[in-house]
Parts: sequence; structure tokens; C-alpha cells
Amino acid sequence: MPGEPQDDCLFCKIVAGHVPATIVRETETTVAFRDINPQAPTHVLVIPRVHYRDAAELAAAEPAVAADILREAKAVADEDKLESYRMVFNTGSGAGQTVWHAHAHVLGGRGMQWPPG
Ligand code: AMP
Ligand code: ZN
Repeated sequence: MPGEPQDDCLFCKIVAGHVPATIVRETETTVAFRDINPQAPTHVLVIPRVHYRDAAELAAAEPAVAADILREAKAVADEDKLESYRMVFNTGSGAGQTVWHAHAHVLGGRGMQWPPG
């Protein structure tokens, strides 16, 4: 069922506390934790507690939770005292998505190039 926890999903396991993570913020609807393979001094993943395969499915099914992720990204940036940050939703394998539970990358603390690779 969309939205229900998936037994084989790493991020559902982090939400449930069955896989450890360096959690930086939690709300009723979201969890934010440091990426295990950071690409910048701040690299935090903000995820919904509910399971959807990507940000587009989440936004279609639960737009309020998608908005919570955008707000939490700003809160993470504020906590790390970032003036600028980049928020990325890799959506689809061609865009680099490897974990099929919606998540925002919040990256900052170094200069960023555009376009991204
Ligand atoms: P994506 O490639 O956009 O699907 O992003 C998945 C991200 O999850 C990658 O940046 C990984 O480094 C990160 N990741 C994978 N396993 C873990 C974990 N156990 N704890 C924290 N981050 C993880
Ligand atoms: Zn999941």
C-alpha cells in the first residue's frame, strides 16, 4: 500500500529506528539525518515518515508532507548556519536515485557549481 512502511526499505527502517542514523531533526511527519556518504560539509537527507517511492509520488498523495520537507530543509540549513544551500530530489535512476523512499538532499557549506553533474 502506498504510504505504508515497506519491509525491504532502508529509510523505512531508519524511521522505525531499526537501522541507526545520525538524526538531526524529527517532526511528526519527517526525519532528517546525515548522509552516510557526504558530498558537502552539510549533507542531510530529509525524508517523510510515510513511504512513497519518490518526491513526485509523495507530492501527489500527501502534498502537506511534501511541504513539510521543504520547511525542514530550511530548518536544517539554519541549524548548520548555512547562508545558502542546495536541495536536490533525485527522481528516477537516470537522475541518480538509488533509494526508493522519497528524500530531499540538503547540501551546503561549500561553493556549488551549476549545472550539476
Ligand atoms: P539517492 O541516490 O538520491 O537515492 O540518495 C540516497 C542517499 O542515501 C545517498 O546519498 C546515500 O549516501 C545515502 N545513504 C544510503 N544509505 C544510508 C544510510 N544507512 N544512512 C544515511 N544515508 C544513507
Ligand atoms: Zn520506505
